[in-house]
Amino acid sequence: MEPLTSRAQIIEKKKMNIWERMYLPAIVGGMAITIKHLFKKKVTVKYPEQKREFSKVWRGQHVLKRDDNGAERCTACGLCALACPAEAITMDAAERKPSEKNLYREEKYAARYEIDMLRCIFCGLCEDACPKEAIFLRDDKIVMSEFGRKPFVYGKDILVEPMDPTKRIDISARQKKTF
Ligand code: SF4
Ligand code: SF4
Repeated sequence: MEPLTSRAQIIEKKKMNIWERMYLPAIVGGMAITIKHLFKKKVTVKYPEQKREFSKVWRGQHVLKRDDNGAERCTACGLCALACPAEAITMDAAERKPSEKNLYREEKYAARYEIDMLRCIFCGLCEDACPKEAIFLRDDKIVMSEFGRKPFVYGKDILVEPMDPTKRIDISARQKKTF
């Protein structure tokens, strides 16, 4: 049969000699590679006793920020979800009631806001797309491992920072970083 492109190579099966049929050269070659690696610098670390240093520009778990008065900044515009290449963000918008002005900064807010951390690739595009400076990726918290898939869908209970001003998440260092 004619090859489809000129890149195709016809491989012919070579007849094995006695040594190759005994697999001895292959075994010795494999052992030599193993022994060579015994004396090389180790690339693995003994986690959790030993921890690998993070890159200066790593991105961790998201936080939904409040303003100085404690109201949620997010207005459920959906731009972060549109920008997300992994389609990890989902939300439901709701109208703010007059009595909720202290809770939500804008007239529209996210009644439900979820990020599927198993889909997320921590690219930071949601942070860049947000016109309200409402979502940031933290550099002090990683997404922890879990036993199932469901716990990886983070809702507002995990994402929105605490109401208590003394417990707010400091993202000033994050904002100063340039990539
Ligand atoms: S960091 Fe990237 S992948 Fe993760 S939610 Fe934001 S835009 Fe989507
Ligand atoms: S986090 Fe920002 S971009 Fe996403 S819905 Fe809220 S305001 Fe819009």
